[in-house]
Amino acid sequence: MDLRGALTRVLDNHDRWTSRFGEYRVAEALRVDQTRLESIVDELAERLEDNYPFFHPRYAGQMLKPPHPAAIAGYLAAMLVNPNNHALDGGPATARMEREVVAELATMFGFGTHLGHLTSSGTIANLEALYVAREIHPGRGVAFSAESHYTHARMCGLLAVEGTAVAVDAAGRMDPGALREVLGRGTVGTVVVTAGTTGLGVVDPIHEVVALCREHGVRVHVDAAYGGFFTLLAGTDGLDAAPWRAIAGCDSVVVDPHKHGLQPYGCGAVLFADPAVGRFYRHDSPYTYFTSDELHLGEISLECSRPGAAAAALWLTFRLFPPTADGLGAVLAAGRRAAARWAELIEHSEHLWLYQRPELDIVSYFPVTEPRLSAVDAASARVLREGMTDRDDPVFLSVLSTGAADFGRRHPGFAADADRARVLRSVLMKPEAEDYLDTLHRRVEKLAARG
Ligand SMILES: *Cc1c(COP(=O)(O)O)cnc(C)c1O
Repeated sequence: MDLRGALTRVLDNHDRWTSRFGEYRVAEALRVDQTRLESIVDELAERLEDNYPFFHPRYAGQMLKPPHPAAIAGYLAAMLVNPNNHALDGGPATARMEREVVAELATMFGFGTHLGHLTSSGTIANLEALYVAREIHPGRGVAFSAESHYTHARMCGLLAVEGTAVAVDAAGRMDPGALREVLGRGTVGTVVVTAGTTGLGVVDPIHEVVALCREHGVRVHVDAAYGGFFTLLAGTDGLDAAPWRAIAGCDSVVVDPHKHGLQPYGCGAVLFADPAVGRFYRHDSPYTYFTSDELHLGEISLECSRPGAAAAALWLTFRLFPPTADGLGAVLAAGRRAAARWAELIEHSEHLWLYQRPELDIVSYFPVTEPRLSAVDAASARVLREGMTDRDDPVFLSVLSTGAADFGRRHPGFAADADRARVLRSVLMKPEAEDYLDTLHRRVEKLAARG
């Protein structure tokens, strides 16, 4: 696999296409001196060195990794044309690709019918789902778990609907008992379930929530921005299939190809089970919708301009890594195996404690310390800092701020001498984490032992 070779091919293909349209002069105003351009490119490279090495398995922190070379080649090929997927006039080819990849996502989630599109992010995708939810149940609110992404409460504010946080169980899953009580008040129109929380990768009991919501005539939206592609692994290696299978019976779902779909940023997706929700997007655009009576994606999207390149990148990636168990699923499975094995190593470690057993690919842990929250917090912060500032052998982790009550439910023996404690958190979203795991574990253990 050679990125340079693929990119050369992309540039050659582009030259072949552009040459068909005949000679023209590039405007004087746009010309730059080649030597100067190259020197500024080098200056940029220098500035970009101020980054963490997201590509390397020694970066085991947040949900960050570079796109796959296939996505880069696909993005570049389309970006050279720069189609706008707002309207078919802006780029018929990539609009079709968008519809194809969205259909593949719908199949992945088991949606029979669907209406959906790519978005610039999971946040915007969730906003669209909550906007439709509000239009369907005007005057009723939205409930989400206390562990759901922070943007749900914010978007409820934006949409002027009441947001209600539902309590979670000891593992951080939405508590069906607490939800039943909230639904009993009769003020909620939509429940947001999370398939893979951002903090710990916890999957809400979607199957139980759907059953409860149907009793109450309430919509269910699945925020699978981070975890969605793990549905490809449902029922394998101890991953409980029930919540994932239940997504097929939900009203809408969001997934972020820019997290686990090997894409560069700028690629979320929202899907609705009922294509008739398209009516809530109805508008006219006097300048853009001419060339076809076919649906323009801008007619079913809150955003106007969107990069056709994002669709092309995902389309090319899915040709090589289809959203199936053997395709993209194999990429996610390696990270999940690495997380499970690391949890085991941590449980047998003298220097580390496991915070919570991982369900997907997020591992949470903290250095062995005196059993009080302030000590856990200080030790975790020290390992984070010393790891990333070590010049010779750095390791990049992240921290999760846990509340005293949540911490206490998992580790009752610790004195709550502070309101919160940071614990260490590693998202093992690169499949290379599996091969590198022993090195990573030894490195983190050594840092923890120093305290
Ligand atoms: C990342 C994430 C979001 C937000 O998505 P962005 O693409 O970062 O805007 C929403 N929900 C969950 C569960 C996430 O993990």
